[in-house]
Amino acid sequence: MIDAIYIHIPFCIRKCGYCDFLSFQSNEIEREKYINELINEIKLYPKIKYDTIYFGGGTPSILKIEEIEKILKELSFDENSEITLEVNPKTVDEEKLKGLKKIGINRLSIGIQTFNEEFLKKLGRIHSIDDGINTYKMAREVGFKNISLDLMFSLPGQNIDDVEKDLDKLFLLNPEHFSIYSLIWEEGTLFYEKLLKGEYKETDNSLEADMYQMIIEKSKKQGYIHYEISNFCREGKEARHNTKYWKNQEYIGVGLGASGYFEDIRYKNFSNFKEYYEMIKKGILPREDIEKVSEEQKEEYRHLVGLRLLKEGILESSDKKFYKIYDKLLKDGYLKKIESNGEIRYILTEKGLFLANEVFEEFV
Ligand code: SF4
Repeated sequence: MIDAIYIHIPFCIRKCGYCDFLSFQSNEIEREKYINELINEIKLYPKIKYDTIYFGGGTPSILKIEEIEKILKELSFDENSEITLEVNPKTVDEEKLKGLKKIGINRLSIGIQTFNEEFLKKLGRIHSIDDGINTYKMAREVGFKNISLDLMFSLPGQNIDDVEKDLDKLFLLNPEHFSIYSLIWEEGTLFYEKLLKGEYKETDNSLEADMYQMIIEKSKKQGYIHYEISNFCREGKEARHNTKYWKNQEYIGVGLGASGYFEDIRYKNFSNFKEYYEMIKKGILPREDIEKVSEEQKEEYRHLVGLRLLKEGILESSDKKFYKIYDKLLKDGYLKKIESNGEIRYILTEKGLFLANEVFEEFV
């Protein structure tokens, strides 16, 4: 049963130096036009009662309350649905946060990235440390009870103490959930250019592994559950929407360049406005790439994403071709087999966690 929708808002105030997400600077008229077409795209899908709705970007918090409300009015959900909006500090004030709460947003994902002013500048973020902290505190004051913070690590020039200090500051805020991803050097970004010119250096692999180890240990000491490779939460506060991705469940993705997985088809929408709008105007789903997923691919993908869930892992496949892979990974100490209630599941071991990409490669 499908009950999740991802809504892409491809607008940002300014491009961050490391970012290759689909996002552009825009004016109010362009945003208004986009929202109208996005709503027309939503109308091309069957009416579904959503358990999770996720506004991602870009910077969804750049939109006006009325614009977000207009989108939500097209969707069916109830008070138990998880409705997340990504927030960039500096794009919201107390009034706006109150407005978001009023229209039904009940989970915020705030892009803090680091509590170090020098690294914030390096990343090209539009906000200061105080902007991030104030946004979090205001969100609490207006009544948000489910807040996730985003951090990054393995930044150029960052040492393990810097990461530790970032975590200490995050723990003082005590969010229900946080994600922490290492920097990925994406081609075409300013960071990549600086890497090629030798102005920036990649973090050494062993230092990055030490940082990750420290993050895991420190977070556990603070009572956070490490439930996914890059995600930590308080009991019962897992990101419900993202967990559906990791469980390989279907979801609708709408908006420019959005990906989705619906009726056994994985798709990606057009990434340029012209084609995206033209298709919607013709009443056609604006998909650029479409891939029918075979049963075999479904199984492969289920392993690939499912092993990211550190407690649940994946249920043993009925397809015997995977048995050889399980055996190899068990023998090498990357996987652990768990048998309970007549079920066999596999989860990553600590060794597997640190070499997760190599483990995943075995399944495709
Ligand atoms: S705010 Fe987020 S989406 Fe926008 S440019 Fe920065 S990293 Fe990319």
